[in-house]
Amino acid sequence: MTDLKKLPTDKLYIDGNWVNSAAGELHAVINPASEEKICDVIQGTAEDVDLAVAAARRAFKDWRHSRAAKRQALMHAIADGMEARKQDLIAAISAALGCPAHITEWLHVDGPIYAMRYYADRAAEMEKTEKAGHSVVLREPVGVCGFITPWNYPLHQFVGKVAPALAAGCTMIQKPSEITPLQDYVMADIIDAAGLPAGVFNLVPGPGPVVGAALSAHEDIDMVSFTGSTRAGIEVAKAAAPTVKRVTQELGGKSPLIITPDANLEEAVRWGCEDVFINSGQTCTALTRMLVPAERYDEAVAIAKQVAEDVAMGTDKEAFMGPLSSARQRDIVRGYIDKGVAEGARLVTGGSDAPADFPKGFYVKPTVFADVSNNMTIAREEIFGPVTCLIPYRNMDEAIAIANDTEYGLSSGVWARDAESAMPVVRRIEAGLCFVNGGEFNYDAPFGGYKRSGNGREFGEAGLDEFIELKSVQLPA
Ligand code: NAD
Repeated sequence: MTDLKKLPTDKLYIDGNWVNSAAGELHAVINPASEEKICDVIQGTAEDVDLAVAAARRAFKDWRHSRAAKRQALMHAIADGMEARKQDLIAAISAALGCPAHITEWLHVDGPIYAMRYYADRAAEMEKTEKAGHSVVLREPVGVCGFITPWNYPLHQFVGKVAPALAAGCTMIQKPSEITPLQDYVMADIIDAAGLPAGVFNLVPGPGPVVGAALSAHEDIDMVSFTGSTRAGIEVAKAAAPTVKRVTQELGGKSPLIITPDANLEEAVRWGCEDVFINSGQTCTALTRMLVPAERYDEAVAIAKQVAEDVAMGTDKEAFMGPLSSARQRDIVRGYIDKGVAEGARLVTGGSDAPADFPKGFYVKPTVFADVSNNMTIAREEIFGPVTCLIPYRNMDEAIAIANDTEYGLSSGVWARDAESAMPVVRRIEAGLCFVNGGEFNYDAPFGGYKRSGNGREFGEAGLDEFIELKSVQLPA
C-alpha cells in the first residue's frame, strides 16, 4: 500500500516548486474508518494565495498562446501519470474519504483519468474560428482561475475544473477540501513530473473562509469555479461580485427518482437505493426522493428495506459502503434521521444509533424512510448521508409536481418500462441531469444544475466553454 506520509503535505505547490507557507499551520487529515490521523497538511494563507496568483498571472502570458498540440501532449502525459500512480490516487482518496478501495478505483479514479484525456483531445477546439457575417469569432482562455473543491468526489471535481482549464490555456490555483486534500498532492506531483510550465498549476490547501475567500475576492483572478454547499457557493459569489469575475457553481441537490407504474419495480427500487448508499450517501446527484405509484408502495418499501439491510459496511473487499467522511458529517446525518422520526416519517430500517458491528469509525446505517411527505425536512434538505425517502404518488401530474417541488435542480431519474416511454416524463423534470432506467454517468455530457443547484456546467464540450472568452473581430465588410 502507498505510504501517504511520504507526500509533501507540509508544503504548497507554487510556481513549479514545493514551498513553505508564509504563516500557515498544520491540519490533521483523519481516516474516518479508523479515526486515526493519516498525516498533517499545511493550511495556506491569503499571503500564499497572493504568491500563487502572481505566479499564475506570469505563467498566463505564454501559456495562453501555447500551441494546442503542446497542451494536448502535456495533458496526455498527466493522464499517463495518473494511470501509473493509480494506486496512490486510490489510497489517497480511500484513506481520507472512507470509500472502500475497490469501489474508489471505479467510482473515483477511472472516470477522472478518462476526463483528462477527453479534454486533452479538445485543446484544438481553441484554435477553431467561426464566421459570423462579416466577423470572425476567436476563442481565447478566460485567464487566471481559482478552484475550490469539496471532499465527496475530490478527484472528479479536481479534473472537472483543472482539465478543461488546461485545455483552454488558462492558469490556475486549486484549493482542495480540508478533509480530503491528499489526492491533490499526488496530482501536483504528477503535473510537476509531466513538465507543465511553472505557475500554470498551483496548489494552495487551506480553510474555506481563508484560502477560498481570498481566491473568490482576488483582484487578479478572472474566474472562480466552486463546488460544494449552496451556503458556501453564495459566499463565493458575493465575494467575487465586486471584481466582476466569472463564477461557476456546482452546488447541492435533493433529487427525485420517478418510478412509473409499468416499471420493473424490483430493478428500479434496488438501483435507486444503491444510488443513494454508494459513497455513503455523499453524492450531490443522489436520488434521495424515490417517488413510487401508491398502488405499488408497500411492495417498494419492502424491496428498499431488503436492499438497505443487505448493504455490507466496512472498507474491505466485500464492503459496499464505508463510513461518513467526518464525525461532523456523521452527526449531521444522524440529526436528520432523528428529525425525520420526529416529523412523523416511518423509519423502515436503519436509524441514528451507531451500527453494532462498527464501534469505531464514522458509520451510519443505511436508512429507509417511508410515509414521507414532500414538505418534511428530510424531503427538502440535502442530508448527504445513506438515507432515502419513499414518497407515494397517485398520478403522473402529482409525481412531476412533487419532483419539481424543490429549490434544487441538479439531478433526477426516471425508471419506466423502457427508455422511450420515459422521455415524456424526463422532459417535464426541472433538473440538469436525468438518469433513465439506470443509465450511467457520462463524462462526454454536460454536468450541472438548474435553480439553486448552481450555475454553469462541467464535463463535456460545455465544460470547456466555461473557460473561454469569445472575441468578435469585426472585419471590413
Ligand atoms: P462546503 O461548501 O463546506 O465546502 C466546499 C469547499 O468550499 C471546501 O473546499 C471548503 O473549504 C470551501 N469553502 C467553505 N466555505 C467557504 C467560503 N466561505 N468561501 C470559499 N470557500 C469556502 O461543502 P462540503 O461540505 O465540502 O461538500 C458538500 C456539499 O457540496 C454538498 O452540499 C454537496 O451537494 C455539494 N456538492 C455539489 C457538487 C456538484 O457538482 N453540484 C459536487 C459535490 C458536492
